[in-house]
Amino acid sequence: MQHFPIFLNVAGKRIVVSGGGDAAVAKLRLLLKTRARVSVFANDPAEEIRNWAKDGKLHLVTRAVTHGDMICAALFYGANEDATEDARAAAIAHAEGALVNIVDDLSDSQFITPAIVDRDPVVVAIGTEGAAPVVARKIKADLEALLPTTLGRLAKIGKGFRHAVNALPFGAKRRNFWSAFYFDVGPKAIEQDEASVQPALEALLDTHLHMPEKQGHVDLVGAGPGDPELLTLKARKALDKADVVIYDRLVSPDILELARREAILIEAGKTGFGQAMPQSQINELITTHAQKGHHIVRLKSGDPTVFGRLDEEITACEEAEISWRVIPGITAASAATAAIGQSQTQRGRNSSIRYLTGHNTKGFAEHDWRALAAAGEVAAIYMGKRSARFIQGRLLMHGAHPATPVTIIENASRADQRVIGTQLNMLEPTLTNAALSGPAVVIYGLAPRAAEAAIHQEEKVQ
Ligand code: SAH
Repeated sequence: MQHFPIFLNVAGKRIVVSGGGDAAVAKLRLLLKTRARVSVFANDPAEEIRNWAKDGKLHLVTRAVTHGDMICAALFYGANEDATEDARAAAIAHAEGALVNIVDDLSDSQFITPAIVDRDPVVVAIGTEGAAPVVARKIKADLEALLPTTLGRLAKIGKGFRHAVNALPFGAKRRNFWSAFYFDVGPKAIEQDEASVQPALEALLDTHLHMPEKQGHVDLVGAGPGDPELLTLKARKALDKADVVIYDRLVSPDILELARREAILIEAGKTGFGQAMPQSQINELITTHAQKGHHIVRLKSGDPTVFGRLDEEITACEEAEISWRVIPGITAASAATAAIGQSQTQRGRNSSIRYLTGHNTKGFAEHDWRALAAAGEVAAIYMGKRSARFIQGRLLMHGAHPATPVTIIENASRADQRVIGTQLNMLEPTLTNAALSGPAVVIYGLAPRAAEAAIHQEEKVQ
């Protein structure tokens, strides 16, 4: 983010526009919505600008800007549609301390004016850093359709009622009140007539003042393998409501972006091997926040029921008498097999699949290697980076074919996903050479579909 979005209070501040043509008129239409003192410098100003000046909406000077014109100006717009004149005027603005914007010239501008959806005092600003104006226009059109035109009026009435709402404790209670006003009670009332909004507000406050204490709650949520589009709708809704999000290190930043703006985000600091934060401390984090009446989203990568230490967290909730529910997610194995176009099970090949981990609390994890070594077996190995040599050795020792296909999928479903096909006897060196930096799941028994087709072709030829 090169441009930091802020809303600048320009009430009573000077804004200078240099230029009198179409570009200046377009900017002025926006600027005249503010309470700034707007001055326009133009040799030959458009009719519309002259009229605004006549109506006292702006101060018009019918000459080009010169030294001294921008003293005490907060913002300067170069709207001459003439690069040389804009540059000359901008140099003066810089010298006199105004922030400079040259219309349609990103590189010479210190700030940009975003696309705006105006439901004053609710204003949505959309910026793409100049990269994709079409996208900004589309978002603007969608938002125009989404935000009812009554929203501005509701917000104005709501603003006058803010002091009364101080009777509710700060935080979730006030938030719930306002959300009921803006999205339910308010729109219904204003539909009848504006005069019924105030009594509706008062009745709503009364209801909320007498509401029983909110109970805390914990949602144990699967964040999926990384692609935010693989989140379930339930997970998305839980994130929308969360007061506190306690997340694992593997949860991708794109997904955390979806949490409610005011939510407190806490990293529980788990890593693939062992944990930076002991489980007991994570349990305590969850329960202490929930006991304050908060809605907690405990966000775990993939599916929380797969290698997620879920039961310990559920037990902690139960001991603290906090309600909980599990929202499943897409586990890494599902994303990985999808990435290589393979099924986890297949008629005639394997009627079961194992999810196994390369290590457990006691070190390397033992499994039914003999059963796994049989032809056609499939297993998804989680947290297997360091135990690859051990797993490989065990499987070969129990008779697995050295050429059994094995596929490593790193960062499954993410933009930086990598698929590395190999075979059992080459697993360890392949993993080491791959120098993986992201989470990886190893699919034993499956090759990427394309590679598999090639092998079959070769077999046929021989
Ligand atoms: N509950 C998670 C697993 C947690 S254990 C799930 O259902 O996916 C952590 C291991 O999951 C990692 O070591 C890695 O083996 C695997 N993993 C998690 N996200 C992954 C991803 N995007 N791509 C590949 N493997 C992933």
